[in-house]
Amino acid sequence: MKTDIIVDYDRCGNPRECKRCLQICPSALFMMYSPDYESNDPDEWRVDVAFTDLCTRCGDCVDVCPNDAITLK
Ligand code: SF4
Ligand code: SF4
Repeated sequence: MKTDIIVDYDRCGNPRECKRCLQICPSALFMMYSPDYESNDPDEWRVDVAFTDLCTRCGDCVDVCPNDAITLK
């Protein structure tokens, strides 16, 4: 079953300081993205998810996020 992993960017805040979803996902599906990789502006950085067909729906990313920013569908 395909899983949609939705990140609420208004809740996520500063992903470069948090990174918890990147660190905990056993399938390493999360990545950090910015159009400007030299930017120090937290608003320009986002976590994104690739290869969602590899998600096992373990729920670890949802549980670890301190801002309740991740939803699985
Ligand atoms: S549910 Fe588990 S496998 Fe899927 S993205 Fe979250 S941590 Fe990764
Ligand atoms: S765990 Fe939550 S707050 Fe932290 S980077 Fe991931 S989505 Fe953002």
